[in-house]
Amino acid sequence: TDFKSDKQPTWCPGCGDFGTMNGMMKALASTGNSPDNTFVVAGIGCSGKIGTYMRSYALHGVHGRALPVGTGVKLANPDLEVMVAGGDGDGYSIGAGHFIHAVRRNIDITYVVMDNRIYGLTKGQASPTSRPDFETSTTPEGPQQPPVNPLALAMAAGGSFIAQSFSSHAQRHQEIIEEAIEHDGFSLVNTFSPCVTFNDVDTYDYFRDSLVDLKEEEDFDRHDYDQAKGKILDADKEYMGVLYQNENAQSYEQSHGVDENMAEIPDGAPEGAMDLVREFY
Ligand code: SF4
Repeated sequence: TDFKSDKQPTWCPGCGDFGTMNGMMKALASTGNSPDNTFVVAGIGCSGKIGTYMRSYALHGVHGRALPVGTGVKLANPDLEVMVAGGDGDGYSIGAGHFIHAVRRNIDITYVVMDNRIYGLTKGQASPTSRPDFETSTTPEGPQQPPVNPLALAMAAGGSFIAQSFSSHAQRHQEIIEEAIEHDGFSLVNTFSPCVTFNDVDTYDYFRDSLVDLKEEEDFDRHDYDQAKGKILDADKEYMGVLYQNENAQSYEQSHGVDENMAEIPDGAPEGAMDLVREFY
């Protein structure tokens, strides 16, 4: 697509991040976006390299801080399609505080988390979504604590769009990202993106065999809070699809009247601003 840069990814062959990124690029194109109106803010980690591999405006946030940077970009220019991408360590460990507040602000950005349940770039330490018995370099007997459930965190914070995807189901992954882009408000797409080098438990085969696609469940209504909560807290199954959507929730931009591109605001400090600064210093 137009969104592919000329940089060759240095991800390991077979890494799930390839499929996750391809779906993002296709979904951006199919929803009418172009590299000229798209801004990708990446975190730190293997997934954080995505801003280099996609052709759009892009920058790295510092570790765990991609969401506040993305928030700033969107507030500065609400005309941009802002996509924030990172990993499970970046987003749910060091960035957990930012995650919760970005969700509750309901700012209109799409957050794609490449969840491989391990730290890949730093060579295989346990992450917040690692299984309790998963033996890693930092947890020889497993983390021995329950993993973070990012979907439940998002729901508890008042999330208006909560989805889960899988990098290997190309068509379905693209559809889910398209829906996230089209949602007015903060969209979480937790995307299983297997790490073929350091995680031999949460593999392609595991996700292919275990994920239940909500599209196949005719009675499931993503707008029904209780049904969604039941799926999100289901300890026996893992789901793919949009688990919850509240189309009536006002986005931050709607509730705060944010509609002005700051690049179009005339030069010079707004009236009274300098008086305020003098008062402080
Ligand atoms: Fe992907 Fe894992 Fe390799 Fe990182 S270490 S590029 S997450 S396969």
